[in-house]
Amino acid sequence: MAILVTGGAGYIGSHTCVALLEAGYRVIIADNLCRGSAKAIKRIECITGKKPAFYCLDVTDAAAVDGLFAANKIDSVLHFAGFKAVGESVAKPLLYYYNNVVGTMVLAGACQKYGVQHFVYSSSATVYGPNKVPFREDMLLLPAANPYGETKAISERILTDAAKANKGWSVVLLRYFNPLGAHESGLLGEDPAGVPSNLMPYITQVAAGKRERLYIFGGDYNTPDGTGVRDYIHVMDLAAGHVRALEKTKSSPGVHIYNLGSGVGYSVLELVRTFEQVTGIAIPYEITGRRPGDIDICYADPGKAYRELGWKAGKTLAEMCRDAWRWQQANPEGYATAE
Ligand code: NAD
Ligand code: UDP
Repeated sequence: MAILVTGGAGYIGSHTCVALLEAGYRVIIADNLCRGSAKAIKRIECITGKKPAFYCLDVTDAAAVDGLFAANKIDSVLHFAGFKAVGESVAKPLLYYYNNVVGTMVLAGACQKYGVQHFVYSSSATVYGPNKVPFREDMLLLPAANPYGETKAISERILTDAAKANKGWSVVLLRYFNPLGAHESGLLGEDPAGVPSNLMPYITQVAAGKRERLYIFGGDYNTPDGTGVRDYIHVMDLAAGHVRALEKTKSSPGVHIYNLGSGVGYSVLELVRTFEQVTGIAIPYEITGRRPGDIDICYADPGKAYRELGWKAGKTLAEMCRDAWRWQQANPEGYATAE
């Protein structure tokens, strides 16, 4: 029996494949490589010494997904495949609704047809919107700020309804906070195309001299130093959370929602200072206007994941900076860097 990991050639999926293989699971990756890299899959094998099976397919392609389920004994699905850039989702809402929502429906449909009862979904803290911190799983969701957040909230509802309608199903919805860092080998990491929209890859590219300075979006938020506050979590902690979530699906039918965050908020300036201390490299920055759609403060109440999954984030902000920088140095052009 195998675990199907959609989006396993991407940032979080590839790190999670390492954690799954190291925990002894057999892994099948399904990814159309539109935002991921085949090199990530090779490197998963380098790190673990185990080769995941790979299907280059689009999860919105119902016939291709059906063929995959027909040809393999799949025990569980970890569904990462999707688009994740808030700004792009505002510019291209139909692309986002189609890819993220239809992909979820096609996979859930295949699970129903082939009797696969365990499903772990990559949701996001963005579904909380401007709620009061710390965010708790039972809060009313306010995701309407952007289409990306809506695709996550809608996918959560679809999977919740599907779990209610299919006896024995267990669905775990994981709401990630802000993943940072890389595998400590420097072989896997975040590989954004073009100008990074996320903070850490932008900082590492400034440190590498690829960009002149960091633009900090807003210095007038209602936070201790005026810059936005987020709950940063090391991607390998996140990966470990998925292994726990998968175990949960085996023992507990129904729908379970967990925040995967550290419970601590750091400002943009605190992250910049930590990066400078860890690497010894100064990051020139300029404070500019707020980015549309951003909220001031976002951090988790991670207590439920600890109580029910026995999971908590263990790695520090300094480790996230160290590992992200190691990845950047070893792979200046990401996976396009020559071996
Ligand atoms: P990523 O872009 O690095 O990886 C996504 C992977 O999915 C890529 O390899 C891409 O090629 C693949 N993919 C996209 N659409 C596909 C399709 N239709 N069929 C097959 N493959 C497809 O992103 P990531 O950071 O690893 O994010 C993984 C998941 O976690 C996404 O669903 C994202 O929304 C969610 N998430 C990410 C963050 C974050 O900050 N990185 C935060 C919260 C939630
Ligand atoms: N940010 C910034 N400059 C950048 C990218 C991000 O100041 O080039 C800020 C952003 O406003 C937020 C924090 O960094 O306060 C984290 O942003 P990111 O895009 O990484 O994640 P988000 O919280 O938006 O999902």
